[in-house]
Amino acid sequence: MEIFYTKTALRQHLGSLKKSDMEMSIGFVPTMGYLHPGHLSLMDRARNDNDFVVASLFVNPSQFGENEDFSQYPRNIKRDIELCTQNGVDVLFIPDSSEMYLPDHLTYVTVRELSDVLCGHHRPGHFDGVVTIVAKLFNIIQPNKAYLGQKDGQQALILRRFTRDLDFDIEIIICPTVRESNGLAMSSRNKYLSSDGRDRASIIFQALSVAADQVYQGVTDVNRILEGVTKAFASVPEISCQYIECRDCDNLQPVETLEKPALLAVAVFLESVRLIDNIILERPGGNSNETV
Ligand code: AMP
Repeated sequence: MEIFYTKTALRQHLGSLKKSDMEMSIGFVPTMGYLHPGHLSLMDRARNDNDFVVASLFVNPSQFGENEDFSQYPRNIKRDIELCTQNGVDVLFIPDSSEMYLPDHLTYVTVRELSDVLCGHHRPGHFDGVVTIVAKLFNIIQPNKAYLGQKDGQQALILRRFTRDLDFDIEIIICPTVRESNGLAMSSRNKYLSSDGRDRASIIFQALSVAADQVYQGVTDVNRILEGVTKAFASVPEISCQYIECRDCDNLQPVETLEKPALLAVAVFLESVRLIDNIILERPGGNSNETV
């Protein structure tokens, strides 16, 4: 595995590779590091689908709000490098903030409407930061395919819309959420939970599963489904819910009656850690999509 810290060196390397093999396909996995099996599943898929895998480690300051956890975001670059080496990554890009943002950086990319709801409503500007850094990484790396996790379902939808709207010739592949054995979606931020907290956090997937069960039994009234989810969360008073919402998988508009697959998404706080998760709700007889 080769590691690059600058855009110029990475561009040169990938440019010479492409010249020597015009047919070579590049799969790209953007991450903020502190890797876990969720990230590694994206790398596995990228390796299966492509000749060459590029991953990036960059904690992107522009997607964190002023009072958020940018400085406390977990980092362990040495361990991440080992994991990437073991997981078949060919090139790892580890820029620092000054490499990605000049002091007079002024340009941000906004995907309207989709960025204003769910996490975007509670984290204003967050998705502009995400889309902007991904736009930059796509331009530098020019992959054929990019691999994203359903864990961040809204982010995946937004990035898919952004590549379509701005004519990036990059296929977005969304991979299923990888979970702990108790159902908790793997996340770098889980590190901040105590062991009791990790146990309690299993209610998140249990509550989402209550909704899936209701839908399986034929309930299509979304208010009723959300009541069931809220009730499940009430059994763990240490958790406070920021949102529990059911929205259309394409345009993220609120859904009142389940007619086609919809995204059931939640954000909660536990031990001051913000955790998000989601599932696709689909009436029996559908294609059981795991991803948006
Ligand atoms: P992050 O490092 O949190 O920015 O995540 C980098 C990529 O990994 C994003 O596309 C995430 O959606 C994806 N990801 C994070 N956690 C998981 C998980 N538990 N399962 C699958 N993908 C994940």
